[in-house]
This record gives sequence, C-alpha cells and structure tokens, in this order.
Amino acid sequence: MDYDFDLIVIGAGSGGVRSARIAASYGKKVAIFETAEVGGTCVIRGCVPKKLLVYASSFVKTFKAASAFGWDVGHNQFNWQRLIANKDEEINRLNKIYLSLLNNSGVKLIPYHARFVNKNTVIANGKEYTAAKILIATGSTPFYPDIKGIEYAVSSNEALSLEQLPKQMTIMGAGYIAVEFASIFNALGVKVNLIYRGDKLLRGFDEDVRNFAQEAFIKNGINVILNSNVVEIKKDNNQFEVLMDSDICLRNQDVILCATGRIANTDNLGLENLQVNLKYNGQLQVDNEQNCGPDSVFAVGDVCNNDNLTPVAIKEGHLLMDRWYGDGKTYIEYDYLPSTVFSQPEIGSCGYTQEQAVEHFGEVKVFTSTFRAMKYAMTEIQDQTFMKLIVAKETDLVVGCHIVGTDAGEMVQGFAVAIKQGITKEKLNQCIGIHPTSAEELVTMK
Ligand code: NDP
Repeated sequence: MDYDFDLIVIGAGSGGVRSARIAASYGKKVAIFETAEVGGTCVIRGCVPKKLLVYASSFVKTFKAASAFGWDVGHNQFNWQRLIANKDEEINRLNKIYLSLLNNSGVKLIPYHARFVNKNTVIANGKEYTAAKILIATGSTPFYPDIKGIEYAVSSNEALSLEQLPKQMTIMGAGYIAVEFASIFNALGVKVNLIYRGDKLLRGFDEDVRNFAQEAFIKNGINVILNSNVVEIKKDNNQFEVLMDSDICLRNQDVILCATGRIANTDNLGLENLQVNLKYNGQLQVDNEQNCGPDSVFAVGDVCNNDNLTPVAIKEGHLLMDRWYGDGKTYIEYDYLPSTVFSQPEIGSCGYTQEQAVEHFGEVKVFTSTFRAMKYAMTEIQDQTFMKLIVAKETDLVVGCHIVGTDAGEMVQGFAVAIKQGITKEKLNQCIGIHPTSAEELVTMK
C-alpha cells in the first residue's frame, strides 16, 4: 500500500513528540496531530509549571531559616501575578523548543483534531491522511465526579494560572495532584482545606510514608478533612460553599480545586471505527508491543493508564520506534519505577511498599530512620525527614526505598538506579556515605 506517511502520531505531548522525532531520525515520514500547544500536559499544564510553583512556595521556608544563618531578610512580599507571568514566559520558551525540535527533525505538525476513519486513515479538518502505522499519544484529562455544582470547580490546569492568589481554597482528592497543590498554596499563605473520602491520604503509598506525610501536612497548616465526600458546591457571589456528607460545610472558599484523578483522552477519536481493546473509562489496553488491537494502531503514555508518568510515556515511545525502525530489541520494564510527589515534605519512592513486599517476597527486613536535617538544626523549623528501606529476607535484595523530606526526589533517583540493578543490603552497607548529607543515612541504616 502507498500511504501518505510511515507514521501518524496523534497528540504532541511528551510521548508523542519523542516517538515522532525518533521515527523521523530513522528517515521515516511522520505527521503529528495536535490542537493545543506542543508539549502536552507535562510541559504546558502539568509537571513543569507545577514544579516552578513548588520552587516559588519553597522560598518561604528558606526565608524562615535565613536569620539563624546570620541573614536579615527584609520584609518579604510575594507577587502571585509576577510568578504566573514568569511561569507563562518559561512555558512559552519550552513550547518553542518543542516546536523547533519537531521542525528540525522533519516531522509535519498538523494543528487539527484527528479522528480514525479506519486502521490506517484519520480525518482532520475535512482531509484524510493515511499511514502504515498510527500511534495514539493523546494523554489524559482531569476527571470531575458527578456532584451538584461541580461546574464551579477548577482542575490543576486552571490552578496553575489563577488570576488572584486565593485566601481560602478547597481541594478535593488525596493523590499526587491534591497534595502537591495543597502544599504549594498552603506555603504561599492560602488557607487550604483538603477533603478526602478515605481515612488516610495518598492511598497506594507505603503506610509509614502515608502516616508521616499526613502528619507533616497537618503540622504545616493544611486543614485535612477525612472520611468526607463533597455532595454539593454552591456559589455565593464570587465565593463558594462546600457541603459534605459528613455534615461539614466550608464557606467563603475562593477556589475549589478538583484533583480526583484523570481519564484517558479517547473521546471523539473515532475509536468506534476500529476494534480497539479498551479497559475501563476509555483507557486503551496495550500489549507489550504497545499494540491496542488493530495491527497498525498503537498507543503510549497516559492514554493507556499504566504508570502515568512522563518518563514512562517517553520510554515507551522511544523504545517502540527503536524496535520498529532501528535495531532496538529493548522493552520498557515497569518494575522499580521511581516517582516523587512534589509536596512539602517531598515524597520519593522506588519499588514496593512494605505491604506489597510481604505479599511478593514473603518475609522482609525493614530499616527506618527519622531525623531533623542539618539544614534546620539551628533554626526554628522542626521538619523531620523519614527514610525507609525494605529488604527481602531470603535474597537480601533491597526492594523498596521511601523517603519523605527535603530533596527526597533527588535522593531516590540515585538509589533507584542501584535498586533496579538488584543491589543487596549487604552491598549497600559496603558503600561509603557522603558526609554531611541526608542521603548518607541510606547507606548506614542498621
Ligand atoms: P490520583 O489517582 O493520584 O488521585 C486521585 C484522588 O482522587 C485519590 O485520592 C482518589 O481517592 C480521589 N478520588 C477519585 N475519584 C473520586 C471521587 N469520585 N470522589 C472523591 N474523590 C475521588 O490522581 P491525580 O489526579 O492526583 O493524578 C493523576 C496521575 O497523574 C497520578 O496518579 C500520577 O500517576 C500522575 N501525576 C504524577 C505526578 C508526579 O509524578 N509528581 C504529579 C501529578 C500527577 P481514592 O484514593 O480513594 O481512590
């Protein structure tokens, strides 16, 4: 068959752009369809702008610690509008870099919504385009539960660009996005109410980590409301009232942030014209070749809802292109994926929780340490760091590493490399620490 393109990619986020560029670097003719800014959730309205806001909010602690180190810092004034303008400029810069990466690699960017006509054809803006292979990399979008008045809530997309810094806000949910945004706004002086339907935040994380982090969030001033479901949001002038089934009612809320998960972007893709394999909520079921049913249709990233992390989408796409068009033979491995919740305190994790480790490996040895980082020793700041290593008793392999505290993500990234390579506790003990650091604790745990 003579196709217009070797590869069509739908969605120019992290996974889509990487896949398109790598395919083009192998000399393939590639088109990518995107209706929004190139860069996707991570670069435009997720990880990157969020991290810039995390940095902004972390200055508060630095100012607080400064005087103990001899610094007299003047009256601190925070300007939300300046932060947002600078953040927008930075995102604009990154968007341009993404655009030029695509252009320079010879990928054709088509700024229209693509819908499948059949397994080798999409239609966009009234024109049909054909390809030997089509890759779906459309990511995900915020999920809003069916609650009366939910239209008054915003998602993390809008929370990154609020016109004014709110005085009081309500956040619904207790996963990554909820606790990250709660920490940002709380540190910036907003009165944050975090509402969760369960009895402990961060379901899925190690129990000790959940306990430690939740206590720290509360100590930091976040009003954590557990065992409560929002049943109605009412608008009252420019403010909101939040009613819960636990009979708690919050008044005078300036912003309601819904952080109750995300759903795959598969609506209106014309998937009914194909025989694709779906999980629930429209997520695509892929096999280990990233194939989602028809022999020419594949998917990477959040649209498959495997591990919804940018580096995973990038790796899935990159390795797939290497296998198709290069001499690559490697497949992504999902075990021992490191990840970090950029809350305050930060939570870095790699591998199994204690509960999962027991289930998977039988008996485990657990090493924990709680200490006050040296940076805060001379200050009023009482923040503690928590570290936990989980070791499979039979093999001595380190199967879990969890850190709650400053720079947890930076630390876990390094240790994740060793853990993925199968380091034993005995080998870890042979490593020499770097003194004085927090990370040295991980090689000296007894
Ligand atoms: P999560 O799945 O992490 O959390 C969703 C939260 O919403 C949970 O607390 C969940 O409760 C709650 N929830 C779900 N449905 C309802 C409902 N109907 N009513 C009330 N509460 C509800 O999703 P996020 O949106 O926070 O993040 C999406 C994904 O994006 C993450 O899982 C992660 O993979 C990725 N991400 C990664 C980041 C990072 O790496 N730093 C940052 C942000 C996102 P329950 O636990 O009871 O189900």
